[in-house]
Amino acid sequence: MKAVVDAEKCIGCGLCVQVAPDVYEMQGDKAVVKVDEIAEEKAEDAKNGAEQCPVAAITVS
Ligand code: SF4
Repeated sequence: MKAVVDAEKCIGCGLCVQVAPDVYEMQGDKAVVKVDEIAEEKAEDAKNGAEQCPVAAITVS
């Protein structure tokens, strides 16, 4: 599983990082995905972070 943050959309609220700190991290005022491949046990966190993003900037696939 992979996740992608659309930096154009991200408003830097930090919510995804709070929800899934093993998957997302802030880089300046934008969130980035910190792993190439999301581990199975982190998949749910990654999806929750994407679902809670207020501007739907995260795609998980
Ligand atoms: S939740 Fe969405 S808007 Fe907020 S930091 Fe993460 S990607 Fe950016």
